[in-house]
Amino acid sequence: LTSEEQAVLDEIEEKEVDFLRLQFTDILGTVKNVAVPARQAEKAFTEGIYFDGSSIEGFVRIQESDMRLKPDPETFAVLPWRTDDQAAAGRMICDVINTSTGEPFEGDPRYVLKQALDHAEELGYEVNMAPEPEFFLFEQDEDGYATTEFADKGGYFDVAPKDLASDVRRDIIYALEDMGFEIEASHHEVAEGQYEINFEYDDALTTADNVATFRTVVRAVAAQHDLHATFMPKPVPKINGSGMHTHMSLMKDGENAFHDGDDEFDLSDTAHSYLAGVLDHAPAICAVTDPTVNSYKRLVPGYEAPVYVAWSDRNRSALIRKPAARIPAASRIEARFPDPSCNPYLAFAALIEAGLDGIERDLDAPDPIRENIYEFDEEKREEYGIETLPTNLGEAVDALEEDETILSALGPHISEKFVEAKSQEFEEYLVDVSQWELDRYLDTY
Ligand code: GLU
Ligand code: MG
Ligand code: MG
Repeated sequence: LTSEEQAVLDEIEEKEVDFLRLQFTDILGTVKNVAVPARQAEKAFTEGIYFDGSSIEGFVRIQESDMRLKPDPETFAVLPWRTDDQAAAGRMICDVINTSTGEPFEGDPRYVLKQALDHAEELGYEVNMAPEPEFFLFEQDEDGYATTEFADKGGYFDVAPKDLASDVRRDIIYALEDMGFEIEASHHEVAEGQYEINFEYDDALTTADNVATFRTVVRAVAAQHDLHATFMPKPVPKINGSGMHTHMSLMKDGENAFHDGDDEFDLSDTAHSYLAGVLDHAPAICAVTDPTVNSYKRLVPGYEAPVYVAWSDRNRSALIRKPAARIPAASRIEARFPDPSCNPYLAFAALIEAGLDGIERDLDAPDPIRENIYEFDEEKREEYGIETLPTNLGEAVDALEEDETILSALGPHISEKFVEAKSQEFEEYLVDVSQWELDRYLDTY
């Protein structure tokens, strides 16, 4: 055992942990877990835990279904929301190993992100990410089903007593802190019942693990308060949706490779090229960072979500924003298009590979747009050469299928399964008859 593995065994003993949940995510980003008695922890480290992957979304074909979970000891945490009379449970996030080859399984999203990080490392970079996941808290009905009744009637940065759900938010933050999160800030978002909790930046892999954990914790703690937390991008029409802005920077030799104090925007050539790469691949990245039919109901003008492929050092209608940074180490760019329904491992891999492609091709970023792009008409957009993001999941998947860089970021296994699953999702949506259509046409015709 390594010293980290031994430390986990000690903690299990000391905290009287009875059960271990071994977690990983499927292609869609849903957290899956296999629970084992905690006394199997040593075996989990030395031999791994075998499971049948054939029923996990996009994992394997039936005939090659045996997979092995290899827990990452650095991700050990005791689940804080179990009550005193329940047995203590711990969790570890795992890598998935193909049992027939003994190699990492290429259908494991965590492996896909590790590949992108290896690529960055070959070029001398480490990648830092900080996400800003937004979510809604809704009431449940008597039967415990989710409604779209807001849990409170507060507005942006409102405080109690209007922000009635602040107790829930406090409990969420305590639970996250117990699991090792450094919480930077939490606030009520623009919409009723909408919140954002920011946690400190970290390396991209840790951050992706954190996003997966974050969503689980938020839902679990909300449920304890009889509320339903949702990361669905646009649960209520005509008000803001939920985004997951993603701040990114690269480090080289311990320094922030995105900073250049002589540049008008404090951004280095590396940052400009990375940014240009993300803009260049944005339509295809969308399929991964905004992967649901509902994602495209958020990406419409007027609700602080981006619609156009442009960047800005000022306004929030752009796809990428350069936030003001007080110190050089904080120079970064913020991708504003991702939403919290994404698989964070795949989303980060797509963003990183797009940025690295910009660096490798030595792309130049266009000029930033300082006006409100929502107000541009088509003519003005053409004059500035501003393209639009895909307007629906189908267009995004089409863009993905034509983008070799993003396809190869996902790898052959996941890109094939992903395109298949998302095309099917979009086709199902196309043949459905919505409430809007009934309201509009049933009586009229
Ligand atoms: N909720 C907005 C979105 O859909 C973002 C609001 C903000 O700037 O934080 O992206
Ligand atoms: Mg926000
Ligand atoms: Mg933001």
